[in-house]
Amino acid sequence: MALRARHLLGIEPLAPDEITALLDLAERHAGRNRGGEKHTALLAGLTQINMFFEPSTRTQASFELAGKRLGADVMNMSVAQSSVKKGETLIDTALTLNAMHPDLLVVRHPASGAVDLLAEKVACAVLNAGDGRHEHPTQALLDALTIRRAKGRLHRLTVAICGDIAHSRVARSNLILLNRMENRVRLVGPPTLMPAGVGELGCEVTDDMREGLAGADVVMMLRLQKERMDGGFIPSEREYYHRYGLDAEKLLHAKPDAIVMHPGPMNRGVEIDGTLADDIRHSVIQQQVEMGVAVRMAAMEMLTASLRAARAG
Ligand code: ASP
Repeated sequence: MALRARHLLGIEPLAPDEITALLDLAERHAGRNRGGEKHTALLAGLTQINMFFEPSTRTQASFELAGKRLGADVMNMSVAQSSVKKGETLIDTALTLNAMHPDLLVVRHPASGAVDLLAEKVACAVLNAGDGRHEHPTQALLDALTIRRAKGRLHRLTVAICGDIAHSRVARSNLILLNRMENRVRLVGPPTLMPAGVGELGCEVTDDMREGLAGADVVMMLRLQKERMDGGFIPSEREYYHRYGLDAEKLLHAKPDAIVMHPGPMNRGVEIDGTLADDIRHSVIQQQVEMGVAVRMAAMEMLTASLRAARAG
């Protein structure tokens, strides 16, 4: 199955059957990634360019690995050394890259909406690797796959998303996906870290961890995004950890078999206790990283389906 849209810019445009098809395909890649022979030639002859205007560890590495495992020619454009530093606009950069005829462009940018704008200007498929506070679709998809594997389903689960909701594209994309798949979502965090209009998002909202975690199947912690704050959002990190940091004691309010997630990078001792993050009885943080490669392989495979069909025919 192909995705209906030409690009993967967010979860918002995806229908439940597209999400399920992508996760099913990713599941197959996850199986292959654990085996001895990891390579396929599915994207052989295609060019993938990764363009990251914001730092990234997991996302950039896994997109690169995903492309290589599918046989694409992968180029990482180092923005720090590019003309962007000399003042070239995003659109000029896009047009320059477009002239090199890539088939896939993976873009991360600090401005919400920048990736959508860029997608309008290029001929290839664009994957949003995170734009400002807007969306991070492959993160939500890898989280969904991790949840589905751990819980055996992706519906009728209670999911608590906790911490800095206001600045988090991960929270936004996850909220859309989990709502679309008919789960019960709770946003938990201090009122200063809730986005405007949170009441209209179709989920429960609380500033109390005990209430938010009660009976949760999944507890998803978020990083405090200090780079997107201009002061005054929390009294102190110590106080924040005391009220909102996840530790074994607070986790007792969730279901006994609740899983603990974090998209990384983690601030141990700020939003999550380091020991709990490493406790494999609950923490699926390493599985999230593993599923990241599989989900990105599936997304790129689905976005190039029509291209590959045309080539084969
Ligand atoms: N890595 C995730 C993102 O790029 C989460 C984070 O940075 O806190 O949005």
